[in-house]
Amino acid sequence: MHDSRELVLARLPSGVPIRTTVHVYGEGTLVDGEEGPELDVPDDGGPVVYAQAAQHGREVNGAAVLRRLHGRLTGEADDDAADLGDGIDDDVRGTLVSVPVADPLTFDRVSYTTPESLDSINANMNRCWPGDPDGTLHERMAARLWPFASAADAVVDLHTGSPNMLTHTVYMRGDEECRGLAEAFGTDLLLAEAAGDDADTEWAERNFGGKFRVAATREGIPTITPELAHSREVVEEAVETGVDGMVGVLRREGVLAGDPAPWDGTVARNHLGRVTAADSGLFRAEPDLAIGDEVTDGERLGEVYDPTTFETLQVAEADRDGIVYSVARESTVTAGATLVGVAERIEE
Ligand SMILES: [Zn+2]
Repeated sequence: MHDSRELVLARLPSGVPIRTTVHVYGEGTLVDGEEGPELDVPDDGGPVVYAQAAQHGREVNGAAVLRRLHGRLTGEADDDAADLGDGIDDDVRGTLVSVPVADPLTFDRVSYTTPESLDSINANMNRCWPGDPDGTLHERMAARLWPFASAADAVVDLHTGSPNMLTHTVYMRGDEECRGLAEAFGTDLLLAEAAGDDADTEWAERNFGGKFRVAATREGIPTITPELAHSREVVEEAVETGVDGMVGVLRREGVLAGDPAPWDGTVARNHLGRVTAADSGLFRAEPDLAIGDEVTDGERLGEVYDPTTFETLQVAEADRDGIVYSVARESTVTAGATLVGVAERIEE
C-alpha cells in the first residue's frame, strides 16, 4: 500500500512555500496533523525505515533511486527487473517512509548549499540536524522532516559524490547497528567515521555533529550515508546500486521478506587521509591514478604546478597506505583543497 502527501518545509521571504512530497509504503499511513501530514503507524505495525535523498540538490541519483524503488514496491516498475509485489509480504509487517527531495532549494539550484541570502548560518542543510522549528530556514526544514526520521528504526540518507569518488557507505565507527545497516546496503567500501573523541578538529570545525546521520545515530537510530557515484547526472549503475542497497536495508529491518546479500568488502576510515594542495595552481593527477586503486605511503599521486612559470610547486604523495576514494575533478586548485582522498584500510 502506498500513500503520498505534500509537505511544506518552510516559507520563503516572499511567502512562497517550500514544498516537497512524503511517501509511505506498508503498514504506516499519513494523517493530517496541525502542521501538515504526520506518520501514523499502528502499534503492531512492525519496523519503520526512513529514507531521504537530495539534501544536497545536485546529488540527484538518490531521488532516482527512490523513484525506481517506488516502481518496484508498487509493481509500477519502469524497468524489467522483478517487482517486489506490494512490497510488504503478508508475513512481514513494516513501513517505508521516503522523501526523494529533502532540500528543494538546493535541488532547484543544482547546488550543494543555498545562497547566503536564504540561510547565511546553515547554508549546508546537512549541518543543522535535528533542526529547529524557530531557527534558520534550513533548521526549520530539517525540523519538519525530523519527526519522520525519528519515528524510524533505521535511516538511510542518500548522497552521491562526483564521478571521481568511489561509491561507499559511511557509518559511525564503533556502532554495530550502523555497521550492520551499512553491510546490508552492500557497497564494497564502508567508511567508518570517527565517533568524536578521536576525530580530528575538522569534525568540530565543519560542524559534523549536525549531520543528519550523526544526529539520528545519537538518538539511537541506526543510520547510514551511502555515497553513490555521480552527481548532476542520473546514471544507471548508481541507481541500481542504490535500489539494491535499499532492498538490502528493508530486508535487514524486516520490512521486506528475505535476507540481505552477505557482505564481503573493505572497511576503511575517511577524513584523515586527505592529500591537500600545499599551494594554489593546476593539479595534474598521475595519468594512471584511478579511484579504487591501492596506494602505499609515499606513492606519487600527482603534482601541483604554477601555470605561468611551469614550476612544480608540490609533488603530491600518499601519506599512508590505503584506497583512493576520490581524485580532484577540477584541475584548478587553491591551497588547502583536497587533491586525493585516501581511505585507510582498518579491516580486511
Ligand atoms: Zn551530499
